[in-house]
Amino acid sequence: MSSTIGFIGLGHMGGPMAQNLLKAGHALKVFDLVPAALQVATQAGATATASAAEAASGVDLVVSMLPASRHVEGLYLGDQGLLNTIAKGTLVLECSTIAPESARKVSKAAAGRGIRMLDAPVSGGTGGAVAGTLTFIVGGAAADLEAAMPYLQVMGKNIFHAGEAGAGQVAKICNNMLLGIQMAGTAEALALGVANGLDPKTLSDIIAKSSGRNWATELYNPWPGVMDHAPASHEYEGGFGVDLMLKDLGLAAEASMQARATTPLGELARNLYALHSTQGHGTLDFSSILKLYHQPRNK
Ligand code: NAD
Repeated sequence: MSSTIGFIGLGHMGGPMAQNLLKAGHALKVFDLVPAALQVATQAGATATASAAEAASGVDLVVSMLPASRHVEGLYLGDQGLLNTIAKGTLVLECSTIAPESARKVSKAAAGRGIRMLDAPVSGGTGGAVAGTLTFIVGGAAADLEAAMPYLQVMGKNIFHAGEAGAGQVAKICNNMLLGIQMAGTAEALALGVANGLDPKTLSDIIAKSSGRNWATELYNPWPGVMDHAPASHEYEGGFGVDLMLKDLGLAAEASMQARATTPLGELARNLYALHSTQGHGTLDFSSILKLYHQPRNK
């Protein structure tokens, strides 16, 4: 079945996700604020539009992949918001990582206009977006998830229903808080080993087969040169930005306060990434947190 899809937000994640929908035979109307991102998508066969409203009109499905809550609320809500122009009954997949409160607010406004919206944040990084193996963590009505399944399966491999609207975001925030803690912990452990004379690759191989192993040691090592494909081996370019991780740790802190939960490690990690960002590293991949622990010494 070939559909027409409006895709808004063609960044590190949205770009490759859109490419996979094109490869599956769907027709895409795309919009991004950055002309270069639009150009890449049109070269792959998408039709560029001059506005988000144009991309989202006359389509079977709308997908959005934007940085943060304010972008998503700005896109859908208010007088100029997309919810005023999207046709009734249209399915909307909002894939950005945003505050659960924002997701619930937009979803409620959508329901009020007869638009079916799912919060569907993803996990798996840019590699997962390119390979079409993302994990989708979905909040919203089960029937809408069923309708979205053929599209989700093109972009992802594991699809979870976390609960009602906003639940996808809560689960995603818990995952990313753990990811931020693990990456900082992995950088700390590797820096300790190297400071004590170990080779970072040898230590990484040991940890990857021992009880300290985790996603960073298996797939996304923060030490330059240990894994060819990892952002660490490419000056920390691409991947998942420090400021996006900082945003997610901020969302975890807010969720923690709202529920009176205790998240001391999440808070510490948030402060580490904030410090790292203020040192001018906000746009680097988040594995560059290693720089807080290790600076190459002059021999
Ligand atoms: P990005 O900054 O690379 O891309 C965001 C894109 O949205 C940009 O191209 C920007 O121009 C566009 N944009 C912003 N406002 C817009 C608007 N009003 N209309 C149209 N386009 C607009 O970010 P990303 O890395 O692709 O991440 C997107 C989301 O996915 C974030 O919420 C992030 O937390 C989440 N996420 C990222 C990763 C990752 O590894 N990068 C992994 C999982 C989840």
